[in-house]
Amino acid sequence: MGKVLIIGAGGVGQVVAHKCAQVPEVFEEICLASRTLSKCENIASQIKRPIRTERVDADNVPELVALIKDFKPDVVINVALPYQDLTIMDACLETGVHYVDTANYEPRDEAKFCYKWQWEYQDRFKKAGIMALLGSGFDPGVTNVFTAHALKHHFDEIHELDIIDVNGGNHGLKFATNFNPEINIREITAECKHWEDGKFIETPPMSMSKKFECPENVGTYNIYRLYHEELESLVKHIPTIKKAQFWMSFSENYLKHLEVLQNVGMTSIEPVKFQGMDIIPLEFLKALLPDPASLGPLTKGKTCIGCVCKGVKDGKPKEYYVYNICDHEECYAEVKSQAISYTTGVPAMIGAMMIMTGKWKGDGVFNMEQMDPDPFMAALNVHGLPWKEIILK
Ligand code: NDP
Repeated sequence: MGKVLIIGAGGVGQVVAHKCAQVPEVFEEICLASRTLSKCENIASQIKRPIRTERVDADNVPELVALIKDFKPDVVINVALPYQDLTIMDACLETGVHYVDTANYEPRDEAKFCYKWQWEYQDRFKKAGIMALLGSGFDPGVTNVFTAHALKHHFDEIHELDIIDVNGGNHGLKFATNFNPEINIREITAECKHWEDGKFIETPPMSMSKKFECPENVGTYNIYRLYHEELESLVKHIPTIKKAQFWMSFSENYLKHLEVLQNVGMTSIEPVKFQGMDIIPLEFLKALLPDPASLGPLTKGKTCIGCVCKGVKDGKPKEYYVYNICDHEECYAEVKSQAISYTTGVPAMIGAMMIMTGKWKGDGVFNMEQMDPDPFMAALNVHGLPWKEIILK
């Protein structure tokens, strides 16, 4: 059917490459490009099908344009870092190729999560007759599709939304993050925002927590309220939502380490002078922490990520939960990655597949909940992320 260019050969890029390779009828040719060629070659060597590998600096638009013109993909999947979103979108515009990512653009010098910059590309993508699909990971991504599915099949109106991300896995290390440490710590240490009665309300990071019992004996975990980017697009596109919150589980041990690192200034993104050089403490911390890709063989346990929706159906109140449970060890056996990379990489592949098969069409910039959830939900069941739903009330 066509060609896919994957940019970024980290934990998520590895899963995307494996999963695209499993669907040769859609992804006939695959190119994996990243800053470090050896990382692409290492991933390609794990896969039986031939994968073209390239070195590219995704901060550099002319380099990206040259690669795209040479390989001629139908779609580009951006699983580099959020800092590269705009340059890759610029290159897609210049070459007329569809774009998919899993995280919204962030400027390097400010931990600010918002879609403003990417939504500003709306007219240019529309005019070019191409699609940018934003946030096709798990959260954002599947959580947006879960909410759209709930609205389509279970509610007349959704009034409250709780997105709950539990990682019940354990890697046995003293402290490590499950995906890029710099991006992860920027997200967790940012001010919390949740949507209530028509506006976002700010509260200090990690100041609100509660217990959540996962289904299917995954266990009971402390979950903490955070700001997460899908809240912004979901309340825009589903305006009946009066309250929307995002929750994530953390262990006591993780929080203890994070508190100390924060207290000594190691999570700061403000440059400091060190022996005559400017260094950014969080970037230095990233260099010390384990590479998330190395957690694959160590992590045991399950993730449980889903959405609790409250609203009305046929004039009656209704409460509903839709979720996926994913096993770290099963992911590693299949694609040599833990479940955090797996749950992000599979939806990125499915997003690209929706565009290539024409199941999702549109010129412009789109968030996932704007598309028909049905073909995506069906594909999740086929490609490794089966979901279940429970009518709670
Ligand atoms: P990693 O740090 O493991 O991988 C990022 C990759 O991007 C690395 O291989 C890196 O190359 C490459 N890269 C960075 N800068 C450039 C550049 N300028 N040019 C080319 N390549 C570059 O991160 P993850 O795989 O864990 O995460 C990838 C993305 O997925 C992130 O944007 C993250 O926010 C997102 N994500 C989304 C989730 C969701 O559910 N929606 C969940 C988890 C992650 P090198 O190693 O050579 O430096």
